[in-house]
Amino acid sequence: MAPAPHYAPGTGQKRNARVILNRLKKRYPVMRTALDYRDAWQLLVVTVLSAQTTDENVNRVAPDLFARWPAPEDLAAANPEGVEEVVFSTGFYRQKTKSIISLAADLVERYNGVVPDTLEELVKLRGVGRKTASVVLAEVWDIPAIAVDTHVKRVTNRLGLTRESDPVKVEFELRALHPEREWSGISMRYIQFGREVCDARRPLCWECPLADRCAYPDKTRRP
Ligand code: SF4
Repeated sequence: MAPAPHYAPGTGQKRNARVILNRLKKRYPVMRTALDYRDAWQLLVVTVLSAQTTDENVNRVAPDLFARWPAPEDLAAANPEGVEEVVFSTGFYRQKTKSIISLAADLVERYNGVVPDTLEELVKLRGVGRKTASVVLAEVWDIPAIAVDTHVKRVTNRLGLTRESDPVKVEFELRALHPEREWSGISMRYIQFGREVCDARRPLCWECPLADRCAYPDKTRRP
């Protein structure tokens, strides 16, 4: 594995990151994923299903999925066609079915069906990357972890907190900017902010509470 990237931001950069995070905390005092789940196992599965679709779509199919195949052992032994029918409306249903069944089988084989609570072990599971692992750690156990998705990457770049495009590098840069106790509360706030205000194509810069901190050169104007 490549060595972890090292960043050493200055005091001013850290202060700027703290101001930004504090404003996001004010806007989103309590931030949790909008995905419904009961435990780490369910969050792992619904996070995989949430790729390229809305959380609402996933929440609609998850109850049926977990009613029919409640435990990793059940899903590992499931008939793929039956699973495909249930997850169909989340899109990419064939690939997603394959992913969650092989994830379940891997979890049973490696960890006896119990979701591990470290990043190193989680990313060994088939189909689980740093982003999904970090979501689970931060959400379920409040373990310091920063998940970097497309929203986090875009917003932090526009705000000049990073110039990296590689999600792992963005993650390590954010880790360096913020004290560890803040890590688990960072991603969801950036994600929500990216959805509500700092949209990819049409950011609402005229009503943005972070406009004075933003390095984005082509800020949009009120229509
Ligand atoms: S000013 Fe615009 S581009 Fe900058 S963070 Fe706010 S919404 Fe995003």
